[in-house]
This record gives sequence, structure tokens and C-alpha cells, in this order.
Amino acid sequence: MDFSALTKKSSASFNQHKNLLKKLAKGNTVKCEKCQGILTLDLKTPKPGQGVAKCPKGCTEIVLELG
Ligand SMILES: [Zn+2]
Repeated sequence: MDFSALTKKSSASFNQHKNLLKKLAKGNTVKCEKCQGILTLDLKTPKPGQGVAKCPKGCTEIVLELG
């Protein structure tokens, strides 16, 4: 396994999540990359300080740190 590639990828997705959270917080519409469905932010997660952004079909489900 190439760990450097893995690190790079997870850091990129971290920034992607941050941008996504910013957009959702501003009330912008964010679409799923796969099905183009509109992502909704669900704040009723078991863990406080976390939200889940997901599309209607469920192919995108991103856990966001809100704290
Ligand atoms: Zn989707």
C-alpha cells in the first residue's frame, strides 16, 4: 500500500469537507457528485458536534465536524 498517496487523498477530502460545510452553512445548494441529488445536512447524529451531509439516494454520506 502506498501510504503517501493515502495521506494526500484524506487531506484533500478533509478540505473538500470543509468547503462543503461552508457552503451548507451559508445555505448554498450542494449536489452529489454521483447522482446530482441535493445534499441535505442532518444534525441529528448520535455524536454531538457532528453532522451528516447526505444525498437522497445515499451514495454520498459525509460526516462533518461542526465544532
Ligand atoms: Zn448521490
